[in-house]
Amino acid sequence: MASEATSENNVVPENKEVEEEVTFKSLGLVDVLCEACEQLKWKSPSKIQKESIPIALQGKDVIGLAETGSGKTGAFALPILQTLLDNPQRLYALIMTPTRELAFQISEQFEALGSSIGIKCAVIVGGIDMMTQSLMLAKKPHIIIATPGRLVDHLYQMYS
Ligand code: AMP
Repeated sequence: MASEATSENNVVPENKEVEEEVTFKSLGLVDVLCEACEQLKWKSPSKIQKESIPIALQGKDVIGLAETGSGKTGAFALPILQTLLDNPQRLYALIMTPTRELAFQISEQFEALGSSIGIKCAVIVGGIDMMTQSLMLAKKPHIIIATPGRLVDHLYQMYS
């Protein structure tokens, strides 16, 4: 017999686990960030998001590896935004990325997820006037997204 009757109208197939749906809320994210995901039409967390968000929210270090398009940016952006909400401060996070294009894509996601909470980002990459970027840094954004070479140029300028 392949099934077991738990009540007159409720038959649960044997050995079939009832899987609980994983949501952004069940990962521990606050309502304002769950709503931001909803607005971006992110219906449920991706694999890398399910695996990394709860650990990052506990304040633990995470090393994640996932392919392009897997939702990696959300996996680190959402915990950064939530911990920033808990402890609001300027110059809160630095994201290092190898290319200009990735830096702008990451910034777009931070701004989309953080728009309702007033997040300010600065993108610090080569090919853009140093003075313009210095002014952006002087405004003390919450998040800096940078390529390494240009960030080092700014550090030299500040400390030499
Ligand atoms: P990434 O891997 O961070 O480059 O993300 C690739 C794309 O996936 C971006 O356009 C995101 O907007 C989108 N994305 C991230 N997380 C989710 C999700 N949970 N559901 C649907 N789309 C997502």
